[in-house]
Amino acid sequence: MKLTIGHLYPDLLNLYGDRGNIQCFRKRLEWRGIDAEVVPVLSGEKIDFSSLDIVLLGGGSDREQELVCGYLKDIRDDFQNYVEDGGVVLAVCGGYQLLGKYYKTQTKTIEGLSILDITTEWEPQRLVNNIVLNSPLFDTPVVGFENHGGRTYIGNHTPFGKVFFGFGNTGDSGYEGVVYKNVIATYLHGPLLPKNPQVCDYLLERALKRRYGPDAGLEPLPDEMEHRANSYIAGRYSDKKYILKETIKKHT
Ligand code: GLN
Repeated sequence: MKLTIGHLYPDLLNLYGDRGNIQCFRKRLEWRGIDAEVVPVLSGEKIDFSSLDIVLLGGGSDREQELVCGYLKDIRDDFQNYVEDGGVVLAVCGGYQLLGKYYKTQTKTIEGLSILDITTEWEPQRLVNNIVLNSPLFDTPVVGFENHGGRTYIGNHTPFGKVFFGFGNTGDSGYEGVVYKNVIATYLHGPLLPKNPQVCDYLLERALKRRYGPDAGLEPLPDEMEHRANSYIAGRYSDKKYILKETIKKHT
């Protein structure tokens, strides 16, 4: 078995090492004897979505996001068909915002792909912090780091998780990210998957089943170290409450 991972625009969208997520996908497949091919798609290049099993869309600054937006327009319909067909996507921060209708900054409105029915609006106070979520998809917390000026309004979409500690989508909605079909869109930056192997395996399993049928699955891995790291971080915030907008100044 083999999965092909498309890394979209690593030349523009790779803030805080979102690339680490690619390594995690690859390693956790290889450790199970499953081949992994990573296809970097540079800005302006064509994408054959039918050959991809997983797509990573990372985060970027507002400037980079605007550049990417231009390239994404050309592939919008193919990307949407891939998502509707159950294609696996991990979209992080700027990538998350780009899946929505628009990202309104102080000076302009960057049009998104409208694959998700969400909108994002910039506010001057950035939401920067460690974050801990409880996601109904997992029985262990999801831990990470967030840094965004945009506030994302997710309408009727299902959130990725409930914020236990941190800011999340808007700083006061109490929710973080979106789950839609086999898309996880989230503000959790950098090594989201190495920190949360349960999220990595969730996405890998969905990609395997889509490509190879319902019986395809993953053998468990000896993840003691990963689980210890994950629960150490979650434990550090276990007696804290999620941060409300009013307290942002105090915490940043
Ligand atoms: N430019 C977006 C924001 O600040 C996303 C930044 C990022 O990807 N970290 O909201």
